[in-house]
Amino acid sequence: MKKEFRDMLKERGRSEMPAVLLVAAECAPLAKTGGLADVVGTLPKDLKKLGIDARVIVPYHRVIKEKYGNNVEHMFHFFAKLGWRCEYAGIEKLELDGVIIYLVDNERYFGDRIYLGEQAEGEQYAFFQRAVLDAIPNLDFTPDVVHCNDWHTAMIPMLGKTQYAGGIQERLRYLLTIHNIAYQGKFGFDYVQDLLEVEDKYNTPEFMELNGCADFLKAGCVFADRINTVSPSYANEIKMPYYAEGLEGILNARSAQLTGIINGIDKKVYNPHTDPVLPARYDRGHLKGKAQCKRALQEQMGLELREDVPLVAMVTRMTEQKGFDLVMHVLDDLMAGEEVQFVLLGTGDARFENFMREAENRWKGRLCAYIGYNEAVSHLVYAGSDFFLMPSRFEPCGLSQMIAMRYGSLPIVRETGGLRDTVQPYNRFNGEGNGFSFANFDAWEMRATIHNALQCYRNPEIMQGLIGRAMQADFGFENSAMEYARTYIWML
Ligand code: ADP
Repeated sequence: MKKEFRDMLKERGRSEMPAVLLVAAECAPLAKTGGLADVVGTLPKDLKKLGIDARVIVPYHRVIKEKYGNNVEHMFHFFAKLGWRCEYAGIEKLELDGVIIYLVDNERYFGDRIYLGEQAEGEQYAFFQRAVLDAIPNLDFTPDVVHCNDWHTAMIPMLGKTQYAGGIQERLRYLLTIHNIAYQGKFGFDYVQDLLEVEDKYNTPEFMELNGCADFLKAGCVFADRINTVSPSYANEIKMPYYAEGLEGILNARSAQLTGIINGIDKKVYNPHTDPVLPARYDRGHLKGKAQCKRALQEQMGLELREDVPLVAMVTRMTEQKGFDLVMHVLDDLMAGEEVQFVLLGTGDARFENFMREAENRWKGRLCAYIGYNEAVSHLVYAGSDFFLMPSRFEPCGLSQMIAMRYGSLPIVRETGGLRDTVQPYNRFNGEGNGFSFANFDAWEMRATIHNALQCYRNPEIMQGLIGRAMQADFGFENSAMEYARTYIWML
């Protein structure tokens, strides 16, 4: 055990590290729709290296059953009370990469989709949270800390502390991690009361009421012992109305318990030196392979095969969060005014998808819009591009910019949240930096920053320095795991 942890534990009169149960809606590689799954999948492995017994509990989604059904062990089952409903809850156990994962089985709630959407998603995850709380005393391990993630698990601290008098759930410590404050789980109070039997007195602004709704995430912010979000800058931003989506009051009130811990990426999966998907491999000292990747990308995307033209790429969900309004505003000006190629890999809102399809027709041979989700293609885009554009309106952490940097694609980002914390803008006076950034959510500011980046492309010496520093940046998960370990110990 590290001396730092030993000392911290001693102050709390303990000798062993805390045991932690991570609760989430998804966990990679079992079931994944976004960055949350990556965190829940990777963090326990690194916590284990620090001596923390970290286990995970997630719904037994059908995608998991289909792939891992033969490897799970049935532990026990019971009937969870969901208001007037009585629902089967099976607890299955799976060991993956040395991490124990408990799965909550109920085919009605965890069938087709990870997220049912709309009102049905409220019942789906009310059930999950009730089942998790009821199952805790009967698991083959006793956690000290329950680590909840996002609104789908944010009612757990409140339910645990208010509805389990005398039970272990009442005494547990609860950490809530906010991965994206834009999603809060808002429902009518009657509906939530019907499912979870929440007392009337909690339907007030001091507790879970927000704009006339019962708000799961707000309940978590009120009742969790500690709150964290996924970058230090985002932790500050969500205390301001522009970013907080109505939760600025409670987050300011609880700012002493609110911290930011930046996520990491899996350095084994994202490694241009060993990546099996790439047509050629490379590292910081040998970039020849990157030029081959660029050629392969140009070939695959139907672009002119030119090494001398800078290639700007995006890999993204196509939503307002990701700054697509800015891209729409200046894309034609960029294509007309600069010698540049542009590749987009993404899916999302129809209006953005259609705009990009039409742009591809206007700029055939120089711009390609690959509308779809494709993991393998994404690796080639990171490896084959010179610049990676990510002009987010808000960005809790962002993994794509870190992946891009690891593959030597220089990020061009807006200074917000995790983008601000991971990209150091190029300073032409002292030559420092590992990317490019702009401050305001403004299309022409973004356009000017892209112009500056493309100017640098003409200078191989500057580019080499930037690429070297970008590829060298340490975005491993070990640092985040250390921070989480400290947080768990503080909570004891
Ligand atoms: P968010 O979780 O908000 O979507 P992040 O940057 O944190 O954004 O993580 C996005 C992850 O999803 C990255 O690993 C990125 O490569 C991947 N990704 C996003 N869109 C696509 C796509 N269309 N095809 C393949 N991978 C994608």
